[in-house]
Amino acid sequence: MKYIGAHVSASGGVDQAVIRAHEINATAFALFTKNQRQWKAAPLSEDVIKKFKDNCKKYGYGKHQILPHDSYLINLGHPEFEALEKSRVAFIDEMQRCEQLGIDLLNFHPGSHLKKIEIDDCLARIAESINIALAETEGVIAVIENTAGQGTNLGFDFTHLAKIIDGVKDKSRVGVCIDTCHAFAAGYDLRTAEDCDKTFGQFAEIVGFEFLKGMHLNDAKSEFASRVDRHHSLGEGNIGFAPFTYIMQDDRFDGIPLILETVNPDIWPQEIAWLKAQQNS
Ligand SMILES: [Zn+2]
Ligand SMILES: [Zn+2]
Repeated sequence: MKYIGAHVSASGGVDQAVIRAHEINATAFALFTKNQRQWKAAPLSEDVIKKFKDNCKKYGYGKHQILPHDSYLINLGHPEFEALEKSRVAFIDEMQRCEQLGIDLLNFHPGSHLKKIEIDDCLARIAESINIALAETEGVIAVIENTAGQGTNLGFDFTHLAKIIDGVKDKSRVGVCIDTCHAFAAGYDLRTAEDCDKTFGQFAEIVGFEFLKGMHLNDAKSEFASRVDRHHSLGEGNIGFAPFTYIMQDDRFDGIPLILETVNPDIWPQEIAWLKAQQNS
């Protein structure tokens, strides 16, 4: 079973995101459970939590179909103590919000070394941040996203993901989300089915499909191996349609949220319909 959707707006409340997902015929969705550009947010009210759960039930979204994303401000590998602490506190809050909403997964960008510490030191900090957050919460899986490697962001190399997982004590509560645009920009080719075989073969070897908890399906405005993160609508960018057909026909991608973060929300219904149709093409 493939769960296909998009990162929908939660404006007006997280319960509204569920309705927006339903309106575009999505069978999965992503959302921010708070404003992604602010450190603090009001706690979720009992009323909103109930409405969110009721809407999920009404429209048929189970735990494996929802992939929230954390705030962009959080850097779990921050080289400086105070800023690292601030990020860890904010991340625990994000995990707790998921817990309250009955969501199993929290997707996040691993972190940045800001040219102040070594890569391995930064990866170890990220793993420790995850350990701290897991100890403070129950059930929610920390889902590390691969990055394009823009600036000093880590997570662009599959070995980074493997090293972070290696440092996490409870392996049952850590996973990864692979973003096709980020992978392509980081130098993992996806332009043909053969490229996909090779890239996902490397992923299987270095990280392992047992850790794959979600995918972000984006074409790229950025060039191959450019380390630049610019999404595009499916088939309109430098990647093309090939990996999206490939993913839809490969059962290694079953049972996890497959989320569009493409640039034109107006065509999400068409993109979702096209992805669904690829399963039988
Ligand atoms: Zn993404
Ligand atoms: Zn991106």
